[in-house]
Amino acid sequence: MDNPSKKCVISGSTSGIGLGVAKYCASLGYDVMLNGRETEPSKIKELIAAIKNNQNIKVGYTEADISTPEGCEKLIKDTVSTLGGIDVLINNAGIQYVASVEEFGVENWQRVINTNLSSTFYTISKALPYMRKNNWGRIINIASVHGLVASNQKVAYVAAKHGIIGITKTVALETAGSGITCNAVCPGWVLTPLVQKQIEAIAKQDNISIEQAKQKLLFEKQPSREFVAIEDVAAMVAHLITPQAAQITGSSIVLDGGWTAR
Ligand code: NAD
Repeated sequence: MDNPSKKCVISGSTSGIGLGVAKYCASLGYDVMLNGRETEPSKIKELIAAIKNNQNIKVGYTEADISTPEGCEKLIKDTVSTLGGIDVLINNAGIQYVASVEEFGVENWQRVINTNLSSTFYTISKALPYMRKNNWGRIINIASVHGLVASNQKVAYVAAKHGIIGITKTVALETAGSGITCNAVCPGWVLTPLVQKQIEAIAKQDNISIEQAKQKLLFEKQPSREFVAIEDVAAMVAHLITPQAAQITGSSIVLDGGWTAR
C-alpha cells in the first residue's frame, strides 16, 4: 500500500466507472468520498457499507450537484469536512445526449457542458489550495476517446471531453514540480448504464436484440470488439495515484481497444 491515508473524492461514484474507481481506491486502503444523483438514503447506506467492507477507512457521501459552481464547491467542502482533507480528486461524473447539431438545442448543450466540462474547472480550482498546502496531490479527469476524436450526434459531449484534455494540460503546467499531477484517462466503450442507454436506443431503432446492438456498437468503433472493463479503468486511475506516477502529468491515457489507432 502506498499511503493508507490518501483522501479521495470521486464525482459521480454511485454508478459505473466512478463506483468501480471508488471500490478500487477503498480496496487500496484510501479514504473515499462518494458522490452522485442517487439520493435514496437506504441505497447510499448500503453502498457505503459495501465499499467500507470492514476496512479501517472513512467512506462518506455527498449529493452535491456538480453541474453548478455551488455544487462543485460543496463537493470539495463536504470532502474536507468528512475525510479531513483532500489528496486525490477524480472528476468522473458525466452525462450524454445524442442528437444532430441542428436538433441538439441550447438547453441540452448547456446541461452537458456544465456537467461534463465546467465542473472539472470548478472542482479543480477549489481542490488545488488544499493540495498545494501538502505539496502533494493527484487530479485525474475521466475524459474519453471523445476527447481525442469525434463521433456524429455528440457535439456537446465531444466538445466537453476535448475541453477536459485542455484543462488537464493547463493544470499540469501550472502545478509542474509542486508534487501535484493532473492527467486525463480516455476510455473507449465501457459497459455502464450510460452506454446501456445507447445500446437500447440502437436495438429499438434498428429492431435488433440487445446483444446484436452491443456487437454493432463495438464493431463500429472498437477494433478489439470487447468492452473496456470498469476494473481496468480503475486500475489505471489507481496507478496514477502512486509515487511511481509522479512524472506522469498533462497526459491523456487511452484505454480503447484500438478505437483511436485507425
Ligand atoms: P454512469 O451513468 O454509469 O455514471 C454517472 C455518474 O455520474 C452517476 O453516479 C451519476 O449519479 C453521476 N452524475 C451525473 N450527473 C451528476 C451531477 N450533476 N452531479 C453529481 N453526480 C452526477 O456513467 P459512466 O459510463 O460510468 O461514466 C462515467 C464517466 O466516464 C463520464 O464522465 C463518462 O463521460 C466517462 N466515459 C464513459 C465511457 C463509457 O463507455 N461508459 C467511455 C468514456 C468515458
